[in-house]
Amino acid sequence: MQLPSLLLESLEGTCGFDKVPFLQRHQDAESLTSIRINPSKKATLSFDTTPVPWSQYGHYLKERPSFTFDPLFHAGCYYVQEASSMLLEQAFQQLMNVDGPIHALDLCAAPGGKTTHLQSLLPAGSLLVANEVIRARVQILRDNCIRWGASNVVVTNNDPEHFRRLADFFDWITVDAPCSGSGLFRKDPSAIEEWSLSSVKLCSERQQRILLAAWETLKPGGILFYSTCSYSPAENEQIVQWMVKEQGAIIRPLTLDATWGVTVSSEGYRCWPNQVKGEGFYFCCMQKPERDSELLTRSRRTGGEKITSKEKERLRPWANLDHHAIFNVEQTLFAIPSALMYDFLNLKEKLYVVYAGVRLGTWKHDKFVPDHALSQSLLLSKEVPVINLSTSVAIQFLQRKEFSLDESSKGWQVVCYDGQPLGWVNVLAGRINNYYPKELRILKDS
Ligand code: SAM
Repeated sequence: MQLPSLLLESLEGTCGFDKVPFLQRHQDAESLTSIRINPSKKATLSFDTTPVPWSQYGHYLKERPSFTFDPLFHAGCYYVQEASSMLLEQAFQQLMNVDGPIHALDLCAAPGGKTTHLQSLLPAGSLLVANEVIRARVQILRDNCIRWGASNVVVTNNDPEHFRRLADFFDWITVDAPCSGSGLFRKDPSAIEEWSLSSVKLCSERQQRILLAAWETLKPGGILFYSTCSYSPAENEQIVQWMVKEQGAIIRPLTLDATWGVTVSSEGYRCWPNQVKGEGFYFCCMQKPERDSELLTRSRRTGGEKITSKEKERLRPWANLDHHAIFNVEQTLFAIPSALMYDFLNLKEKLYVVYAGVRLGTWKHDKFVPDHALSQSLLLSKEVPVINLSTSVAIQFLQRKEFSLDESSKGWQVVCYDGQPLGWVNVLAGRINNYYPKELRILKDS
């Protein structure tokens, strides 16, 4: 692997950069695989693992399995994520030491690694907006949020500029910025070809634009977590210096265990792959100064609840909708925590919302047709009949192939693997209709 000489030159003098071991690390083939478990789904995983020390949910795997053929992967019981990125957890826990619900935003969210992580860390009752500007990437973000199963996430497809309409709204913002990507050269050597000094410059200008919009929608006193997977100071420390100078951002330090190997500088934290058990990563937490007479109380208005009580009764066999309001989009029903309904309506007015809460299903005449998202959600009623599948039948289900069951009652049922819901089937006389979404199906043959 030949790293660009202009990159190496630009790193000379950068905090923690040690050229020889850095180059050596790019030559050795050892690749790390790590996952982050979904604490809401409580699945028993059979991997041989060691913990990622900076995340209560992170685990390194001794070997990389075929995730495609693990039904628990499709059921959202864990997310495959590079370990350095999981340092977000330290930032959140040390700086957002709050008891009550907050408004959180992941501004550059696809495919959803940091979104799903943040979702697991938020205090109960919080709102999480997961935004992705590139349309083609929103779908994977939405699918990963659906798998994660939470009802407090709103997925949007907006340019960061649009968030200026929500001034001083979010308590926490993650900006995991698009970058020149040098931190991932070990994992994806083909990215080396695309690297150039001009792409670093282009990225740093874009990062500044994104941060200015994010700053506007951050509440005074709120925290902005800025990160990249680039090594270039122009996309990291220099961006933070510029935010301090231009916006009065306050850099918030963290306490990190020295044995983790993270390099600490006055403008953030660096993971060098020759020092940390993870790939290249940079992050820094910035706080927006409070305004003098800031009123930190938050609106707790709710809305929409009154129209839902009858609907809730009809849906009782399907979903546990306690403390949730229901809204209807083109005949499809969605549920969102009642306490977030007012915020949701506010977001809907100002942003292009792609998905929010949990898609429950539709009424066809008098019959309810449940949606896949409900099967993945924690709102799924315990009354719904379930069928447990063996590994091979679970894979057939996930491939949308036909399969048979020894015996089963008729009607809609959730199929599970190891107790974890995978999706819906409708059992008819002599036939089983498989409702696993076409676009999610496993395409490979086992
Ligand atoms: N946070 C994600 C995760 O942990 O899975 C990874 C995010 S990736 C580093 C950066 C994201 O920014 C990409 O999804 C990319 O499509 C998006 N992006 C690209 N251009 C952008 C722009 N001008 N404004 C905001 N986001 C942009």
